[in-house]
Amino acid sequence: MAVNIKRPNGTEDILPKDVHKWHTVEKIARETAASFGFSEIRIPTFENTDLFMRSVGETTDVVQKEMYTVKAKETEFTLRPEGTAGTIRTMLQNGLLNEALPQRVYYILSCFRHERPQAGRLREFHQFGLEMAGSKSPLADAEVISLAKTLLDRLELKNIELYINSIGCPTCRAEYHKALRAYFETRKDELCDTCKDRLEKNPMRILDCKSPICQEIGKDAPVILDYLCEECSDHFEKLKKYLTKLNIDFKVNPKIVRGLDYYTKTVFEFVTTEIGAQGTVCGGGRYDGLIEQLGGQHVPALGFAMGIERLLIVMDKQNCDYLEPRKCDIYFATMGDEALEEAMELSKELREYGYFAEYDLMGRGLKAQMKYANKIGAAFTVVLGENELNEGKAKVKNMKNGEETEIRLNDKFTAAFEDIAMNEMMSFLEEETENSPLFSFNDNN
Ligand code: ATP
Ligand code: MG
Repeated sequence: MAVNIKRPNGTEDILPKDVHKWHTVEKIARETAASFGFSEIRIPTFENTDLFMRSVGETTDVVQKEMYTVKAKETEFTLRPEGTAGTIRTMLQNGLLNEALPQRVYYILSCFRHERPQAGRLREFHQFGLEMAGSKSPLADAEVISLAKTLLDRLELKNIELYINSIGCPTCRAEYHKALRAYFETRKDELCDTCKDRLEKNPMRILDCKSPICQEIGKDAPVILDYLCEECSDHFEKLKKYLTKLNIDFKVNPKIVRGLDYYTKTVFEFVTTEIGAQGTVCGGGRYDGLIEQLGGQHVPALGFAMGIERLLIVMDKQNCDYLEPRKCDIYFATMGDEALEEAMELSKELREYGYFAEYDLMGRGLKAQMKYANKIGAAFTVVLGENELNEGKAKVKNMKNGEETEIRLNDKFTAAFEDIAMNEMMSFLEEETENSPLFSFNDNN
């Protein structure tokens, strides 16, 4: 029988030719998060199933239908469907909440959900997300939303709308649930089977149902904003004021409830209409009860997660700029074994200086080597043959303008090349900086 070596449905291969797109998002995300005081956290890929049941919520789609749960020996584990639960677990287990507050962490990780695969909806996907714990102030909500907005702007995404809502606290939600139940009860027969069940356990989930009929019925349902208690209402008003002060456009959308159970007060989404139903590139909100629910003290917290695949779909569509991967600085085209060995040594030395150097590993002739140097986009080439070795000097050719400079092949080679390369590269970089705002970031690669 033939071995199935195709990738599983709903997974993606990321090839070398595309990886600079991921690096662009990751680098700008890291820099943006750091500039808001966030540090990176790395958490396990799987956790005890209970953690997700108790945090994401037993009546959510994620827990009911989408989790990858495996039994290994006696214990059951679940591949993380999102990053918040594991992050909070990590914070609690390592005492981070006893340190200076607010605690601010971000992560870039893969998530696993058993969904029907389609563009922008995968079974293994990646998130850039973050969590801030300790502040109950709406300033924190504004800060986190502002961070997301800054990142989307720096990635040069256009036509993205911010929707905000408040889903209140347990106090105001009790009243709202009553009203919601009463409304849906009148149209119970039309609801999908899952929503009939939700009506009992968690009526707000009906508003998040993807079935068109349930969505239609949900349109006339009572809205949470009419039921907010004074504290929640005040929180929401302040958030709107801060966003306005920060010049961040938003729309209040009382239908946003988010798909995870742990949210309280503020919820928000950044949405584009450009990729159909999978248009939510970022979702987040406040979850003041979650930490306590997981056995910690009462520590208010909030966060968001962005789907990196969805960001990249939009960026590709909008022809956004990516950071160019650095190419070969200097390629040695050689004739004969002796020259090849010289190239090997010079390359070693250049690499120690931080240059990207290459020479022939394929036994190609000189012409084929030059063709290859062109193909990989080498900035400079040096031809090394018997003559060059005998005379102890060679020509460095600038592949862009064809200019040649002669330099000596002694221990001063690297220093001499550095002079040439620096001049050329500085002027090149200056040009690029003018053309793309992305290059204004410190590039430490
Ligand atoms: P949706 O309503 O699109 O299913 P969600 O509410 O389930 O999204 P969250 O759990 O809030 O999404 O996850 C945050 C972000 O992660 C989403 O806004 C989206 O960008 C991304 N995301 C979620 N599920 C997937 C998936 N299956 N494939 C790719 N990206 C995803
Ligand atoms: Mg979902």
